[in-house]
Amino acid sequence: MENRPFGVGGPAVPWIGQGTWQMEEADRGEVVAALRRGFDLGLTHVDTAEMYGRGAVEEVVGEAIAGRRDGVIVVSKVLPQNASYDGTLRACEKSLQRLGTDRLDVYLLHWPGRHPLADTIRAFEDLVAQGKIRAWGVSNFGVEELDEALAIAGEGRIACNQVLYHLEQRAIEHEVVPWCERHGVAVVAYSPFGAGSFPSPRRGGGRVLAEIAAAHDASPYQVALRFLGRRESLLTIPKASSVRHVEDNAAADALELDAAELVRIDAAFPLGRKRRGVPTV
Ligand code: NAP
Repeated sequence: MENRPFGVGGPAVPWIGQGTWQMEEADRGEVVAALRRGFDLGLTHVDTAEMYGRGAVEEVVGEAIAGRRDGVIVVSKVLPQNASYDGTLRACEKSLQRLGTDRLDVYLLHWPGRHPLADTIRAFEDLVAQGKIRAWGVSNFGVEELDEALAIAGEGRIACNQVLYHLEQRAIEHEVVPWCERHGVAVVAYSPFGAGSFPSPRRGGGRVLAEIAAAHDASPYQVALRFLGRRESLLTIPKASSVRHVEDNAAADALELDAAELVRIDAAFPLGRKRRGVPTV
């Protein structure tokens, strides 16, 4: 599995990771087996949040990483309403407990909120100094918010910006990706399969994906991942609750798309107009 930098200060991380949103709704045994199969296949970046299942998903992730913590990159997120200085420290402690670990690899602010960003970042930096997190980042930040974070923290501190990015929602390519590339911030693409609303193979862009997939004996999901992860700055975190889906996603690492195929996909899923901020749906 190809590794990429998780920002300037962060750990090296596989370009395909594993999301966990709504995993509390699936069978716990199956989900734990799926996450572990993913780790075995190199999908060692696991993304979770205190929000997911109100902490229940962090407990599931804790079960999946038990006994193999050192081989996994664990990312969690503080909710904006908890992201005061003290609230961030408290939230981190609770996440560590639920995850059954003494440290997070990267800790994110889930989206911009009412607490001053400087307070959240001060808490993140103190958590780094205490060894409770290795690095920190943000999520759902547009370029104005990224500018603010950079002005507070300085270069080389923001590991990533986790943002919505799938074939039918490419808005981050206009400004957010170039900003992150200029400042060595990894872009983590969430909902890479459109949160389950994947293009139908019977029409339009979905048909293009299906044709390219067939030519490679691959799945359209693998083709989508390859396109989204086509730049060094981009990481992906598809969520899969079954071993079958995890294996399918991991196999995207071996898929190679040529320039003509990338151009075809680009045309089939047009970039769209520039807009203010970042989309979240
Ligand atoms: P997603 O990864 O775009 O799509 C998940 C859906 O795709 C599930 O229905 C899953 O089915 C299905 N799937 C996965 N692999 C498949 C395959 N190879 N073939 C067919 N179907 C497949 O959706 P997401 O959960 O919204 O996004 C991924 C992760 O990003 C989340 O889990 C979360 O960790 C993160 N996220 C972050 C934010 C944020 O604000 N920072 C927001 C949303 C999401 P099964 O579950 O049945 O396998």
